[in-house]
Amino acid sequence: MAATAAASAAAALTYRHDGHHSVFPAFSVHPPEPSRLFLLKALFPKPYPFLCHNYPIAVAASSRRCMLPLTPHAASVDPSHAFLSADEDKPRDECGVVGIIGDLDAAQLCSLALHALQHRGQEGAGIVSSDGSSLHSVTGLGLVSEVFSDPGTLAPLVGEASIGHVRYSTAGAASSLANVQPFVAGYRFGKLAVAHNGNLVNYRNLRSALESKGSIFNSSSDTEVILHLIATSSSRPLLARIVEACEALEGAYSLVFLTANKLFAVRDPHGFRPLVMGRRRPTGAIVFASETCALDLINAEFVREVNPGEVVVVDSRDMSITSLCLMPSKSRKACVFEHVYFALPNSVVFGHPVHSSRYSFGAALARESPAPSADIVIPVPDSGFFAALGFAEASGLPFRQGLIRSHYVGRTFIEPDKEGRNLAVKLKLAPVRGILEGKSVVVVDDSIVRGTTSSKIVQLIKAAGGAREVHMRIASPPIVGSCYYGVDTPSSEELISNRMDVEGVRQEIGCESLAFLSLESLRGVFADEAHMFCDACFTRDYPVPPRNQEVEQLVEF
Ligand code: SF4
Repeated sequence: MAATAAASAAAALTYRHDGHHSVFPAFSVHPPEPSRLFLLKALFPKPYPFLCHNYPIAVAASSRRCMLPLTPHAASVDPSHAFLSADEDKPRDECGVVGIIGDLDAAQLCSLALHALQHRGQEGAGIVSSDGSSLHSVTGLGLVSEVFSDPGTLAPLVGEASIGHVRYSTAGAASSLANVQPFVAGYRFGKLAVAHNGNLVNYRNLRSALESKGSIFNSSSDTEVILHLIATSSSRPLLARIVEACEALEGAYSLVFLTANKLFAVRDPHGFRPLVMGRRRPTGAIVFASETCALDLINAEFVREVNPGEVVVVDSRDMSITSLCLMPSKSRKACVFEHVYFALPNSVVFGHPVHSSRYSFGAALARESPAPSADIVIPVPDSGFFAALGFAEASGLPFRQGLIRSHYVGRTFIEPDKEGRNLAVKLKLAPVRGILEGKSVVVVDDSIVRGTTSSKIVQLIKAAGGAREVHMRIASPPIVGSCYYGVDTPSSEELISNRMDVEGVRQEIGCESLAFLSLESLRGVFADEAHMFCDACFTRDYPVPPRNQEVEQLVEF
């Protein structure tokens, strides 16, 4: 029975990762146990790894009829232990998405828009295009400039519509091409591609329910659940399937879907993650993107946000636009951390210019926690820049560029000992001794997560820069909770502000004084709209309760 169910599910919903970079990670085969083998009657033409209840399995190449449990070699190596950067101690947004329809250069424009969103994910990128009848896919590991370095890479991506994705992944899945989006699936009525920014809190339950009905998963990404829900829905047409699938999801999702002739954009009812709609001036093409900076780069005018809980459909045959709402509607809870750290300062996110929010955070911080004895204000570049500017102007202190950031150092292979971690910060940030020497310095940063980088920055400014005093000012409240809505934050035990009070953190990072922006001042920047923002990582007041329960792992062969 299990074999029949698995085989029929695989036939109904097949996954394709056949871009030019599509090579699955190396696998080794456990000694096959006879009780775990079953015949697949040559359903699959080649070795093809799947995940079932998080247990890797594959169709064996030689016999074409055995399903064997597998172990990825990569699972025994955690690459994050060896590759370090000065940004290790920041939360990471996990993705950025783009969708374009109605332009002959859709794929090329999509690659440019992905460049603009590169800060939202650096470990994988991909584009799927539609030529009106077929979908074409190219995905790869690395930066957009690496995946699409050769102009010929874009050649297969023909057609007037495309969707794209940049991805940051957690360490365990970092090197897996199977997790790089957009995903392409074949279901009963054609092909469908999807790109997702966010995180589903009921992913495990949904996946377990689907697997118990025979669905076979090809990745460890929660996005694949959405495709299975669409494929197994009995509703018609596709729009109704997408609505039905999305109404089963809980958590954060900004999605773009592509079929042969339609582009869909969907935002979850709380609107955690951003998604905007624009129109290209020269061609009238419709563009969807995570941030407005992507619209700017490809000459698209901002039209409006995709509203929380909205599904927008654009049909390439007449460029008609249809919109409907997911039910039930929920209170808006946009991620305030987009304004604190993630989004580029030249973007307008949730209706507010990001540079302006950060400036206001810094100015409010100067008013509530001044440092009157200081000589100068410097930012931790780049994300502390506008907050430091606001602090300096509100306090009347001179703004100086006391730290220089290297933009040419990415993740660097360094021994993961204490000396190596210090070196990672030095490679990224260099003090300007002529500005800092002998000074009492206010250092403005956007946030403190584990505190490990902050202590190194203080050491750097004092030892290499020669500063007399360091007064740290943080342009957000203490982070005390993990995020469950698409942002990779450490466990709450690792968050320094969850373990100690402000004085404890000050002693840990070794500065003369330390102050965080108060929650009231953070909310005050958004005035009447403050209740429409999620600030759960500062309050633990989660709009959608996290679900940590493990689903029982069933192995049934
Ligand atoms: Fe954003 Fe924090 Fe809410 Fe996550 S918990 S969505 S990072 S504000």
